[in-house]
Amino acid sequence: MKAKIVYCLVVLFSVLFFNPTFASDTMNIPILCYHNFNPVKPGSMNLTPAKFESQLQWLLNNGFTVIPLKEAVEYLQGKRESLPAKSVVITVDDGWQSAYVYLAPIVKKYKIPVTLFIYPETISHGKNALTWEELKELQKTGLFDVEGHTYSHPNFKIEKRHLSAAVYQKFVEKELAGSKKILEEKLGTPITLLAWPYGIYDKYLEDQAAKAGYTMAFSIDAREANKNFRPMAQPRFMIVDGLTVKRFQAIANGAITKSKITSAAR
Ligand SMILES: [Zn+2]
Repeated sequence: MKAKIVYCLVVLFSVLFFNPTFASDTMNIPILCYHNFNPVKPGSMNLTPAKFESQLQWLLNNGFTVIPLKEAVEYLQGKRESLPAKSVVITVDDGWQSAYVYLAPIVKKYKIPVTLFIYPETISHGKNALTWEELKELQKTGLFDVEGHTYSHPNFKIEKRHLSAAVYQKFVEKELAGSKKILEEKLGTPITLLAWPYGIYDKYLEDQAAKAGYTMAFSIDAREANKNFRPMAQPRFMIVDGLTVKRFQAIANGAITKSKITSAAR
């Protein structure tokens, strides 16, 4: 009898603590959101390349694996059984040319995967923006994945207030479905992921994004991505220059997660 109880306890413990499938069911994934890399003008949207490299070195020296966003997506969709225990994802928003000039050499040096969320209106057009040629070159390295960030980077809250319902509907269609089509034509790769400009989204936008063919969308709600969140409302952490080393490490270690359930929960 006693032996039976001990055996049951051993089985229970091994299921709880050593079964990788069980562990992966509750896995939280920190998805980091960067913007611009400028060696001389750090700011809220600007990180010096040296600071980025030191963050990356810390991650790699402390057992983290930088995984492609798409692998995280597959896991969150239930299409992938598990991920490395300390997985972290790097994303970069807005399509600044610094991704080509400063970020790419570091990415190539450490051979890490990075996802760029870009909006076509600025590409080959905006001041200090990436060009289509540079984007294609980055894609060719096999380390950069390029995904969508709407067409013109609007503030959907403001537009919704100013436009009539019918005009707003058309506007959203262009920003989501229209932008996806342009990116696919220009880059020749499928665009399935979306980052919400300013992290603004609501149920209507989520539905429209799904209708446009995006399979997952990301906010900046400052907590780890998890299967418990709706696919069009997966959170990321904004990484700004003022972030302390301690807080960056806490983000990677999963020590920041807010206890309350956010509006993004399923
Ligand atoms: Zn943006």
